[in-house]
Amino acid sequence: MSLSRLARSIAESPTLRLNEEARILQERGEDVINLGIGEPKNRAPITAILSAASKLSGGDIKYTPTDGLPSLKKAIIRYTEEHYDRLAAPENVIVATGAKQAIHMLLFTLLNPQEEVILMAPYWVSYPEMIRMVGGVPVVVTPEDGTFQPRLEDIERAVSGYTKAVILNSPNNPSGMVFPEGFVAELVEFCERKNLYLITDDIYHKLVFDGQRAAPAYNFTLKDVESSRIIVINGISKLYGMTGFRIGWAVGPRAIIEIMANVQAQTTSCASAVLQAGAEGALTGMQSFVESLRLTIQNNRDVVMQELTGVSSIVTPRPQGAFYCLPDFRYYNQDSVALSTFLLKKALVVTVPGKEFGMEGHLRLSYSGAVKDLTEGVARIKWALDPNSPNEIYIGDRKLVRDWL
Ligand code: PMP
Repeated sequence: MSLSRLARSIAESPTLRLNEEARILQERGEDVINLGIGEPKNRAPITAILSAASKLSGGDIKYTPTDGLPSLKKAIIRYTEEHYDRLAAPENVIVATGAKQAIHMLLFTLLNPQEEVILMAPYWVSYPEMIRMVGGVPVVVTPEDGTFQPRLEDIERAVSGYTKAVILNSPNNPSGMVFPEGFVAELVEFCERKNLYLITDDIYHKLVFDGQRAAPAYNFTLKDVESSRIIVINGISKLYGMTGFRIGWAVGPRAIIEIMANVQAQTTSCASAVLQAGAEGALTGMQSFVESLRLTIQNNRDVVMQELTGVSSIVTPRPQGAFYCLPDFRYYNQDSVALSTFLLKKALVVTVPGKEFGMEGHLRLSYSGAVKDLTEGVARIKWALDPNSPNEIYIGDRKLVRDWL
C-alpha cells in the first residue's frame, strides 16, 4: 500500500498506547496499576459541568468563531492578565482542541521546511513528532550532569542558521523539574537577541510544590504580548483535571494567531461549543479547585518520593511540579523499553520508557492517581527488581511470578 512516507514515519504516542494496553489488561480482569498516564482522578469542577450542561440543554450548539467563543476568550484574557501580568487583545488569543492541537497549529504556522526547533531533554514525547510532521527538524539539547536542568550554553551551541524557535516546558513533563528563574531570564534574553520564537508550554504552570513558582517568560522582558516573540500555550487539561474536554489555547502576537486561525478554519473549524462553555465555567469558577488539586498532587509526590528513597539503586531527582518523576533505573537495565515491558508483564505496572522523552535508562512514573495505587505500584516495581525479594507474590488470587530480566 502506498502511503505518505512522512505520515508513516510519525511514531505512535507511547503514553496513549500504554494506556490502551493497560485498559485491555484491566478489561481481562488483571489488577493493573497505571503509573503511565498523566491525568488527575478528580471530577471536573462543578462550574465547568454546569456551564457545559447549560450549553447542551439549550440545544443551540453550532460552530463558534474559529478562534473561540468570545466569552471564553475573555476569560483567557483575564487569566493572562492575572497570571502573566500582560494585557492581551482578543486577536492575541486562539482556542484549540487541547494544548496539543494549539502547539501543532503553532508549529505549522512558524516553520518552513528544514527549520529547526530546539528542545531540552527530557522533553514531552509529542514535540519532536509534531515538529517533523510540519516539515521541521527537532534539535535536542541534553544536560550531561543528570540534573534535568538545561543550561543556556548548551542551547547556544545548538543554534544554527535554521533555528526558528525554542520550546520551554516548566514544570516539565516528564521530569517534574521547575527551571530556575535565572535560566528562564537568560533564555528570554537570548531568544530576543537571536530573534527566535520562544514557545512556553505552561500546561502545568500552577502545579508547583513547596511554595515555589514557575516564573512566566514574560517576567523577563519589558515587551508586551504583541511585540514579544513569546507564545504561551496553556489549557484546562491539567490545571482542572479536564483532559477529556480537549480545550487549550495559545496567546501571542496577532500575526501568528491570525495564521493559526486560518489553519484551524481549514482543518477543524473550531473547538466544540459545548466544551468551550465547560472551559469557560472552569476559568470563571472557584479557583480554590486548582489549589486543592495542587495539594493532592504535592502529597502524591511526597508519597512516591518516600517509597522510592531508600532504594539507592534507583536515583530520583525530586520533582518540583507537574505530576511526574523520572527515576534513573540504569542500575537494572539500560534499555528503558525492555524494563518497562518487563514491569508490565511481571508486576502489572504501567510506566513509560524514558527513551520516549530522550532520556534512555529512565522510566517516567506519573503520580496523578490514587495514593494506594502509588504505594502499591512502587512496591511492585521494587519487588520485581530486587533479586532478594520472594519469587512469587499474590495480588488477591492472582499470582505474580518474578523471573529475573
Ligand atoms: N504539553 C504537555 C507538556 C503535556 O504533558 C500535555 C498533555 N500530556 C499537553 C501539552 C497537551 O495537553 P492537552 O490535553 O491540552 O492537549
